[in-house]
Amino acid sequence: MVSNFRQTVRGMRDFLPEDAWKLRFIEDSARKLARLYNYDEVITPVIEHYELLAAKIGEENRKRMYVFEDLGGRRVALRPEFTASIARLVATKMVSAPKPIRLFSVGSLYRYDEPQLGRYREFWQANYELIGSKNPEADAEILSLTSNLLSSVGLKNCVIKINHMGILRGILGSEGILEDKQNVIMQLLDKKDREKALKLAEEYGATSRCLETLKSLFRIRGSDKKSIINEIARVVNNYPDALNSLNNMSEIVNLIEYGGLEAKFYFEAGFARGLEYYTGIIFETYVPELNIAVGGGGRYDKLIELFSGIEMPAVGVALGIDRIMLAMEKQGVNPPKHEVARVFVIPINESMVAEAFKISLILRRNGIITEIETMRRSLSRSLSDANRREITHAIIIGPKEVKEGKVVLRDMKSKVQEEVKIEDLPSKIRI
Ligand code: AMP
Repeated sequence: MVSNFRQTVRGMRDFLPEDAWKLRFIEDSARKLARLYNYDEVITPVIEHYELLAAKIGEENRKRMYVFEDLGGRRVALRPEFTASIARLVATKMVSAPKPIRLFSVGSLYRYDEPQLGRYREFWQANYELIGSKNPEADAEILSLTSNLLSSVGLKNCVIKINHMGILRGILGSEGILEDKQNVIMQLLDKKDREKALKLAEEYGATSRCLETLKSLFRIRGSDKKSIINEIARVVNNYPDALNSLNNMSEIVNLIEYGGLEAKFYFEAGFARGLEYYTGIIFETYVPELNIAVGGGGRYDKLIELFSGIEMPAVGVALGIDRIMLAMEKQGVNPPKHEVARVFVIPINESMVAEAFKISLILRRNGIITEIETMRRSLSRSLSDANRREITHAIIIGPKEVKEGKVVLRDMKSKVQEEVKIEDLPSKIRI
């Protein structure tokens, strides 16, 4: 294929300053929240062995991986998600760490998805995993973290769509349908292809009673917790594993509601997620202005055991930073601009350049955002450039003042100028 190498590769984007600023703002908010909940940050590689990443990611995502052979002949891939890497890290390097283990990671991921609004081939996620606890308070913590992150960046009216893998798997399992076949059905449900999922269940030997149960389940959805839980309980009454799972979901949601979470729940009994490793609750979060999920997660009790041989239940969430950015734009939310002084140091001629350089270093040492005029423009042109870029203060360096250990400080807004001793500059620059 002939490519225009002056353009970014399809699905890849440049982030110009304003967008890079937004992306980093969300990343910073995610990191702050990790600290608040006491999650430790870990950094794992972008490139991993293909087999690791492919193990439980599901057929759809497996097909979309960037896979290649490195120069040493290893079959490797760019990570399409964090969870496999975290599971590997915990299974090989943290098995004996005290439980629970709370880990945070943030970075770029790669999937050969069809590029469209909110869907890119390189995208960013903030990822939280709580490892070692089976209990509902662990699931509730991950859900509250999710809701907290979205509100901390200023998003409103977030909805968490929730279900429990154990309900669907409990039904299919009791019909003797094995896990890998269940996985194919889950993939279809993830794509909302319910007709095909039912057909396949029939092919796999599901009884007509089971198919009727599934059909009834697929119709159950809504936000009224009590009535939805009762309805599901009635439908899955003959499937004890499904009932246990329903009780587990109910317990988790009760905890969250008792804690007073901002996000609202939306229950959908036919909702599944494509990643194969989920064993408990699964969820996705939405804002009303965007019909694609801004985050998703769930409980995966068997994945780490797959790599370590040791039982290690876990629950986690991945929040899409690009999608949060998009949601913020749709809701008209901007990262708060911290009003701070920004100083422009202007030497009035060439002989003052060294002095300007020295003064700019003094200011930066005092934590003041400072740049120096490097274009050697005239004073008036430098000042109009400063105006255009919303610089708050200009410092004009001239030989007469410097001889007296002073400079001219100009407040760009009020246009008031005064002579200031160099050592007094840091305390004079305020907004
Ligand atoms: P998943 O594990 O596939 O549900 O992904 C978790 C989150 O990552 C999603 O809810 C999105 O916010 C984000 N995400 C997944 N795929 C993409 C993509 N191709 N482009 C941008 N964000 C994505």
